[in-house]
Amino acid sequence: MATITHLPGAASAHAAPPGPATPLLQVDNVSLEYRTPQSVVRATHRVSFDVYQADRFVLLGASGCGKSTLLKSVAGFIPPAEGEIRLAGQVVHGPGPDRIVVFQEFDQLPPWKTVVQNVVFPLLASRTLGRAEARERALHYLDKVGLAKFADAYPHQLSGGMKQRVAIARALAMQPQVLLMDEPFAALDALTRRKMQEELLALWEEVRFTLLFVTHSIEEALVVGNRIG
Ligand code: ADP
Ligand code: MG
Repeated sequence: MATITHLPGAASAHAAPPGPATPLLQVDNVSLEYRTPQSVVRATHRVSFDVYQADRFVLLGASGCGKSTLLKSVAGFIPPAEGEIRLAGQVVHGPGPDRIVVFQEFDQLPPWKTVVQNVVFPLLASRTLGRAEARERALHYLDKVGLAKFADAYPHQLSGGMKQRVAIARALAMQPQVLLMDEPFAALDALTRRKMQEELLALWEEVRFTLLFVTHSIEEALVVGNRIG
């Protein structure tokens, strides 16, 4: 049981003491399987962990251990064969704008849309905002990732690192409850990768989003995470 210390003057004497922090995301005994008529591949077996508000939780593991499958399940694309995934106490049954994934691949941006159109698109498609507000918010997050000047460029005019910055801006613009990242920097050269890790931390300092980050790199896990599973 956690002990809660009250700072003098921080709360009224009559206020109920806050309970222990409840996790934002709960992965509870989750097993995931790929079924074909010939076989069943079990990708994860009874995995449990909790992610708290503003955590940078890293799932670290060797290739093939089921990290991507687990992330897709949290995103709502793969239903658990056993166990439960809960977001803010509600069982996850499918994809939603409260969980956005950034993938490793550079081709996650439609090439026929400009940078700002790429960021605006999910805001409009999910009816989160109207056209003018969506553009304003997109430009805000593009500025945060240092790409304000490239708003009207097309993805093929950008480097790999810049494309990943667009994908991050697009995800953050949706203001998801949890940002999911699946080895987002794995396809970048070592120097760019390092720079992107530092930029992600700086962005977190500013925006304080909740992050679930998958990597096979121990070094990356230590740089990015505040908690590692
Ligand atoms: P990681 O991301 O940790 O490298 P994955 O989640 O991609 O691991 O894969 C976990 C296991 O599930 C592996 O054994 C892989 O071969 C298997 N797997 C992944 N995707 C599929 C699929 N679409 N169909 C069948 N098996 C799959
Ligand atoms: Mg993977």
